[in-house]
Amino acid sequence: MGLEPFRNEAFLDFNLPEERARTAAAIAEVRGRLGAEYPLRIGGQAVTCHEVFESRDPADPATVVGRVHMASRDQARLAVEAATRAFAPWAHVSPWERAALLLRAGDILRQRRREMLGWVAYEVGKNWTQADGEIAEAIDHFEWNARQLLLWDSGREIPPLQSEINQYRYLPLGVGVVISPWNFPTTLPLGMAVAAVAAGNTVVLKPAEEASVIAQQLFSVFEEAGLPHGVLNLLPGLGPEVGDALVRDPDVQFVAFVGSRKVGTEIHQRAAGLVPKQRQLKRLMTEMGGKNATIVTAAADIPWAVREVVSSVIGYQGQKCSATSRLVLLDEVHDRFLEDLLAEIERVSADLGHAAENHAYGPLINQAALNKVNGYIKQAADWGRVVRIGEPRSPGHFVGPTVVDEVPASAPIAQEEIFGPFLAILRARSLEHAVEMGNSVEYALTGAAFTQDPMELDYIRQHFLVGNLYLNRSSTGAMAGVHPFGGYKLSGTGPKVGSPDYLGFFLQAQAITQKVRFPRSI
Ligand code: NAD
Repeated sequence: MGLEPFRNEAFLDFNLPEERARTAAAIAEVRGRLGAEYPLRIGGQAVTCHEVFESRDPADPATVVGRVHMASRDQARLAVEAATRAFAPWAHVSPWERAALLLRAGDILRQRRREMLGWVAYEVGKNWTQADGEIAEAIDHFEWNARQLLLWDSGREIPPLQSEINQYRYLPLGVGVVISPWNFPTTLPLGMAVAAVAAGNTVVLKPAEEASVIAQQLFSVFEEAGLPHGVLNLLPGLGPEVGDALVRDPDVQFVAFVGSRKVGTEIHQRAAGLVPKQRQLKRLMTEMGGKNATIVTAAADIPWAVREVVSSVIGYQGQKCSATSRLVLLDEVHDRFLEDLLAEIERVSADLGHAAENHAYGPLINQAALNKVNGYIKQAADWGRVVRIGEPRSPGHFVGPTVVDEVPASAPIAQEEIFGPFLAILRARSLEHAVEMGNSVEYALTGAAFTQDPMELDYIRQHFLVGNLYLNRSSTGAMAGVHPFGGYKLSGTGPKVGSPDYLGFFLQAQAITQKVRFPRSI
């Protein structure tokens, strides 16, 4: 291909004093820029609106991170029109130039990664290590897709026929919409948008309201890299209004969505219909929630498993689609594991504070998330034995971890995605029973199991049905390329992000046949 092989971006090493000092300086610089105003970005123009949303620091809601102009339905149409105008010229830019632009943008993000970390810490309350993990993955998306687009551009081998030249190649789809959630505010919008643009499409990006300022920083990376106007349009706005208008727009050819199951399934229904002036059915990718289980058997390395499970349950306060929210303990290991687990949860969550100061345990994203978790806490005793209750702390949307033991597999806290620091523990009488409970939800995103017994591992591999299965490690922390990520069942429909298949979602195949030998008539 002529490019060095893909390698995952290395993480920053915060054990080094000079790295800590550099990162702290970048965060201080971001702090000085809080409160700025951000317009929409349509076709290269900065567009202002009547509605302005104040994005606030979840650890200190009195602090405004940025004032973001919120698009209307009419502006959604304007953004689709701008993307439509930009499509043909962009689709004709050679794959090498598209790849070069992505690599340039990846370099810019690499240079700005500490600054980006500061925005992530202030706007969505993610600490240094967690934020750096996702920004490294965001850089990977540029590198990965630059290589993938060159591979896909060379088409596929097909059998030869003597009298013809046959070609099987891939073309971009057209104008697409990318709708992203707030919890991975760099890697998720970029995972979708970079792949879409790499494939030669043009995009309207509708970021989550809560991560609108970070989206503006991402947009500036593309701008600095020289992406032509209109190829990417940034349209912050309310999901039910602007997101909905984009999903229904007749000129939108694909919708790539990551978010909740409720919104994902609604989008699936709405985008499936045909509206006047629509010339094609929309292609859809909906990556949704999870109710992920981790199984621990008596053959596990217990101290290791405890650390990994706790990082999966309360890392980023449980606000990851991949977080473990059900722990299935085999009977013979239950009591010992629970004791160590509670001690580790105590230790990690005691370091509570602002993400910009790199505390291990931070806030929930907003008051609505806190209310939701508190609602489950209030009812927790109805569904099991409450062994730890999460106490709130203000200012900020802080709540400690809650752990409920002896929960039946059918209880709401063992079935519904809570998306916070809330763990339901289920007791299993056998490995078969544990896996059956693991599979007993409508979701199938991630799952993990801890055992060193090869027979048990084999059984789990064969029977535990989730999109990403992790053996002897945490259910969180996927890396582009090496851990292609995505779910089944009501967790998702699309190809896995960071997989060799992913770019195919944003392309359509064409077969071209040219007759080159003409038999003479006798
Ligand atoms: P959400 O579904 O509330 O919002 C996601 C996006 O959809 C936002 O941009 C929002 O504005 C938009 N939206 C809302 N209503 C809409 C509508 N009617 N039409 C079009 N767009 C609309 O999700 P969230 O709270 O931002 O994120 C948390 C959820 O995302 C959790 O369920 C989590 O599991 C899931 N998630 C999944 C993955 C994955 O890879 N499967 C990754 C991260 C998060």
